[in-house]
Amino acid sequence: MASGAASYDALLRDAAVALTAAGIDNTRFEARLLLAHAAGVTIEWLVAHGGEAAPLAVAEALRELTARRIRREPMAYVVGEREFWGLSFKVSPAVLVPRPDSETLIEAALALIPGRAEPWRILDLGVGSGCLLLTLLREFPNARGVGMDASAAALAVAEANAEALGVASRLRLVEGDWRQPGWVERLAGPFDLLVSNPPYVETAAIAGLMPDVARFEPHLALDGGPDGLVAYRAISGEAARLVVPGGRVLIEAGEGQAAEISALLSTEGFVPGRPWKDLGGIDRIVPATH
Ligand code: GLN
Repeated sequence: MASGAASYDALLRDAAVALTAAGIDNTRFEARLLLAHAAGVTIEWLVAHGGEAAPLAVAEALRELTARRIRREPMAYVVGEREFWGLSFKVSPAVLVPRPDSETLIEAALALIPGRAEPWRILDLGVGSGCLLLTLLREFPNARGVGMDASAAALAVAEANAEALGVASRLRLVEGDWRQPGWVERLAGPFDLLVSNPPYVETAAIAGLMPDVARFEPHLALDGGPDGLVAYRAISGEAARLVVPGGRVLIEAGEGQAAEISALLSTEGFVPGRPWKDLGGIDRIVPATH
């Protein structure tokens, strides 16, 4: 009777109650994701089998995952993946969690770059999980990509994602840091398209971000220096050497930064275009043509 194992539905309820008590939103949805991950099944499977008794190991795994989420670890790290542009990306605490706002960069690339079948050469500075570059390699099936990151652990995540998404043969990953001299030479350019979602948060503002972000995401991927623009200066300062004449830059901007980034790029001989807005109406992607 009562001593039997709990059903999946009962575990789901308990996890949702615990998440709600901890002040987390969307708890029903998150609890479902955690349970699916703990049980190694899909959400659809859970809906069909919710009344069945769950193995004790699943209950135990769910308790551990729920405790991590209650400590505000981002959901994507807890379950080890995040969807971006309809593709599944593995993530670890070495990489920024892919965000829906960054999908705006993919939209802009598809609208601005003619010829899906062309053998474009694409560079991603600060490649992280690879969500931008690998998505572009999927959308442009003859393109080749170079992804640079200062973090070897991030490059390992990008490599695993490239394998899983079937684009590894068109990708080269380079460990490099735009804060150190000599990084441009290692990239073997030039490129038709330069993309980047560099760190852009003002150093002093990081502590005030949501705890999920401030405490768990890599500061290397967030910290844009005292005014948030340090990475943009480094990247725009070399962009003319990296991008062919007529080639393009698409760069993600923090809120309120698009005008300054456009100005930096025009100083280097680029013609900036109208920024692309994200779903929240923020100028998110700065396009520029060389
Ligand atoms: N979009 C991230 C945030 O919300 C910042 C990412 C970045 O610095 N590139 O905090």
